[in-house]
Amino acid sequence: MRPRRSTEAHSTGRLAELVCSNSFKSDRLPSAPAILKAELRRFGSLVLDVGDRSAVPAGSALAVDRDLFARGITARIEKEPLIEVVRDEASRLPDSGETIVATGPLTSAPLAETLGSITGAGRLYFYDAISPVVSDDSISSPPLFAASRYGKGGAGDYLNVPLDEKTYLRFVDSILAAELYPVHEFEESLFFDGCLPIEEIARRGRNTLAFGPMKPVGLIDPRTGKMPHAVIQLRRENREGTAWNLVGCQSRMRRGEQERIFRTLPGLEKAEFLRYGSLHRNTYLCSPALLEDDLTLKQAPHIRIAGQITGVEGYLESTTVGLVAGIAASRRLAGLPPLRWPDETAVGALLRHLRESDAATFQPTNIHFGLFPRLSGKKRRKRERNEAIHARAAARLESFLSETAARR
Ligand SMILES: Cc1cc2nc3c(=O)[nH]c(=O)nc-3n(C[C@H](O)[C@H](O)[C@H](O)COP(=O)(O)OP(=O)(O)OC[C@H]3O[C@@H](n4cnc5c(N)ncnc54)[C@H](O)[C@@H]3O)c2cc1C
Repeated sequence: MRPRRSTEAHSTGRLAELVCSNSFKSDRLPSAPAILKAELRRFGSLVLDVGDRSAVPAGSALAVDRDLFARGITARIEKEPLIEVVRDEASRLPDSGETIVATGPLTSAPLAETLGSITGAGRLYFYDAISPVVSDDSISSPPLFAASRYGKGGAGDYLNVPLDEKTYLRFVDSILAAELYPVHEFEESLFFDGCLPIEEIARRGRNTLAFGPMKPVGLIDPRTGKMPHAVIQLRRENREGTAWNLVGCQSRMRRGEQERIFRTLPGLEKAEFLRYGSLHRNTYLCSPALLEDDLTLKQAPHIRIAGQITGVEGYLESTTVGLVAGIAASRRLAGLPPLRWPDETAVGALLRHLRESDAATFQPTNIHFGLFPRLSGKKRRKRERNEAIHARAAARLESFLSETAARR
């Protein structure tokens, strides 16, 4: 719809305008973003092709000249004879015909309303409040203990970080002094109760967190037989329990500050951050409840959802879901059966997050190692684990490609 109608974050009429950082994150294997890039390149991704051609020096990361990049993508799309670019705001959706909606985190209000009427308003969100996620092999138990509040739910559903008063107050004071990412003007309205970052709650009083997201009631520390002064709960982020979500710790603290401050807590001294806390204006759907495996809406099977609005986060994660949606749509038009992307690949791991996450606690995610299925066999060191996940992903992708070529 740009430039006829812009958004709060865009400033040009070009396609693929990067609204903030010009970095596509690490391109050094075996990091999770690099595995995803390798897979996207394998599929001839337009975004990565133009990204590689507009790269600027950025150490081990792939960063791009944002003007060259957006110009390159726009030129390639406009030159494509099978594509007609119509620069208009869509407010309604067609009643039939293969349709893909990829209107992103700043989807305009009339279309959001239309989507909400199909999905039910409670299943369309307008902001994300993301808590950090840490890997299971980087946290220590004890002092962490497994327990659900008042013993409700499975004993292994939550891990708890018990804090005495001194540790709690030191933690609160560090949060109050932490450096924060700036808030965009259009995001200020996000600070309402129920969606508060941890530092905003701490600002309301040194004990407010202990009566809020860090309340200890219903939790007894087995080492002392007593209720701690405060507790941070870690909720299982995936079935395998390789990744744990620090409940209620959504935050605008800088990433380095999140690492420094959470690592002062008992049992989290060596925590490996798979995902950092954040808070954004972000329109997205509760995909696990709303989407079929092929990204079509259960309530309207001719409509497929793609990009960040599905509940992934970041430039390349969004383009991944675009690529998958495009392939799925073209296969359906060609009368071919849908593909099931292997969970062991980075693309498949992102799709599994959209498909299998708990709908009640669904949060958007960038690619990280906690999304990949657990490795079998012995416990490994971080580097060895990442290399093994990469090797498995690369092998599985190649077998998937040969199986698909043989089947079509
Ligand atoms: C302020 C901000 C900062 C960000 N910073 C980063 C960052 O540093 N790094 C990172 O990796 N990611 C960042 N992101 C996320 C990143 O922008 C997204 O992951 C990515 O752009 C999503 O791609 P997409 O194609 O799904 O949506 P978009 O890139 O948003 O594209 C969707 C397009 O649809 C248009 N549109 C919306 N509604 C309608 C409508 N009704 N009719 C027609 N067109 C419509 C929009 O104008 C937009 O051009 C940021 C997002 C925001 C909002």
